[in-house]
Amino acid sequence: MRVTRRQFLKLSGATAAVFSAAELGFNFEATASAVKQLRIKNVTPTPTICPYCASGCGLVVYAERDSEGKFVKLLSVHGDPDNPINMGGACSKGSAMFNLREIYDPETGEQMINPKRVQKPLYRAPGSTKWEEKDWDWMLDRIAEKIKETRDSSFIHKEKIDDGSEIIVNRTEKIASVGGSGLDNEECYLLSKMMRSLGVVYLETQARI
Ligand code: SF4
Repeated sequence: MRVTRRQFLKLSGATAAVFSAAELGFNFEATASAVKQLRIKNVTPTPTICPYCASGCGLVVYAERDSEGKFVKLLSVHGDPDNPINMGGACSKGSAMFNLREIYDPETGEQMINPKRVQKPLYRAPGSTKWEEKDWDWMLDRIAEKIKETRDSSFIHKEKIDDGSEIIVNRTEKIASVGGSGLDNEECYLLSKMMRSLGVVYLETQARI
C-alpha cells in the first residue's frame, strides 16, 4: 500500500496518541464498544417507499426491536440516501411520515397510536354536523348504493351532434373520480377501467390538484 507523507503523519500522530494514553493505564476497548452498542443497540434501519405520492421517494425507517427481532417502537423516518430517486431528501409530507403510525406521549415517553389518525370509516349524514363510526361493510354498501342511484338518474345514453343525428355516448356527468398519487400502474388501470365502465368521464388525480 502506498502511503503519502500526509497520511503517514496523520497515522503516526494517531498511533502515538493511543500509545501514550494506553501507557497511562486507560483501557479504551470497553468504552469504545459501549458507545457503539448504545448508538445502535436493537435499532434496525428498514428501507421503504413513501406511500404518499407517485414520486416514490425512498425512506429509511429506524425502529427498535427486542432480542427476538420483534418491533418495539418507531424511532425515526428519514429520506434514504441510497435511493437514486430522492438521494436522501424528502418533502415535508414525506418527512412527516413518522406521524402516520405512532407517536410518543410527551409526558411519559410511551409509544401510542397517533390519536389524530382516523382508523375507522366515518360517515356524516346529509345535514348532520356529527361524524359517526361505521364498519366497512356498511360503508361499501352505502357507496355502491349512491353510485348506482347517481348513475341511473344521470345516465346519458344518446346525444345529438352538429348534423342533428344522435350518437350513443353512454356517460354520466354527475360522478367524478379522484385517484391517489400513490396508486401504481395496475391500480390506475383498474380504477380507470371501472370508471369508464360506469360511464364516468371526469377522471383526475391528486397530483394535478
Ligand atoms: S410525498 Fe414527498 S417524500 Fe413522499 S414520495 Fe412524494 S415527494 Fe417523495
